[in-house]
Amino acid sequence: MFGKVTMIGLGLIGSSLAHAAGRKKLATEIAGYDISADVRARAATLGFAKVYDTLEAAVKDADLVILCAPVGAYGDIAKTIAPHLKSDAILSDVGSVKGAVLRDVTPFLPQAVHFIPAHPIAGTEQSGPDAGFASLFDGRWCILTPPEGADAGAVEKLRLFWNGCGSQVDVMDAAHHDLVLAMTSHVPHLIAYNIVGTAHDLEAVTEGEVIKYSAGGFRDFTRIAASDPTMWRDVFLNNRQAVLEVLGRFNEDLSVLQRAVRDGNGEALFELFSRTRAIRRSILDIGQDSAAPNFGRDKSPEKNQ
Ligand code: NAP
Repeated sequence: MFGKVTMIGLGLIGSSLAHAAGRKKLATEIAGYDISADVRARAATLGFAKVYDTLEAAVKDADLVILCAPVGAYGDIAKTIAPHLKSDAILSDVGSVKGAVLRDVTPFLPQAVHFIPAHPIAGTEQSGPDAGFASLFDGRWCILTPPEGADAGAVEKLRLFWNGCGSQVDVMDAAHHDLVLAMTSHVPHLIAYNIVGTAHDLEAVTEGEVIKYSAGGFRDFTRIAASDPTMWRDVFLNNRQAVLEVLGRFNEDLSVLQRAVRDGNGEALFELFSRTRAIRRSILDIGQDSAAPNFGRDKSPEKNQ
């Protein structure tokens, strides 16, 4: 499908993408670069990509370059690689926010490069090159957010690449993506970080007790709250507007729930809990999670997110 494909950033997503592209032989060369010399050395040992020591060499002659670093680094990377990108190359990314990525990367790009941002809705709370695996994207959605006037052929090639990596592909504009993901991913992460932080800070409950008596609900929050701090810091710095919009609604709804608890309004609580249970059922119905106990995690630790 492609000649040389380069992943920049060889952590969970970059290494998984290299494994997935290698599995279906989507490129004649799968190349990689990471800012960390340790990660580069580890990736070379694991052997999922040909690892280069400089950004320039990694992107030279590449037909497809995919930014897989935390989104806060994209502007600097784009500035460095722009003069070395091949004419007609496709530049893409996997960042969890899309408006800020367009804002940060586009100004540096030559006309002859097709920039088509993307976001795979797949991941785990693990990071680093050892965390990657080929089936991470299987059956998951990948959202493309091509800017206005993007080359249709380039969009189609990227769609086929993601199909080859196991994903179904949807296309939407960046602002819509950022609002949807604020609701389905970013704010849930913020809530998890907050609740685990609150439990840790609670003076009456020692850290030991929080860990010792952690019930299923709290344990599930701790899994999400163990996600990579750099990646998630960058998500909240770069999707502020949509996160604040969703958080505003969340706070209003939480106040209603607080009042129902204070008033002993069982009817309101039961009505909400029934509605939310139905949402869980719909997610299972479309195959986006497992109905097995413990989310099927014992058998498939990788399908956690
Ligand atoms: P990760 O496992 O921490 O990997 C990121 C890698 O990028 C690290 O090895 C990091 O090195 C490296 N890096 C940092 N700055 C760089 C730079 N300037 N140039 C080259 N490499 C650089 O993180 P990840 O989970 O793969 O996330 C990567 C991207 O995927 C993020 O943009 C995130 O929004 C997106 N994403 C993540 C998930 C998920 O669930 N994790 C899901 C969908 C999309 P250092 O460790 O030395 O900083």
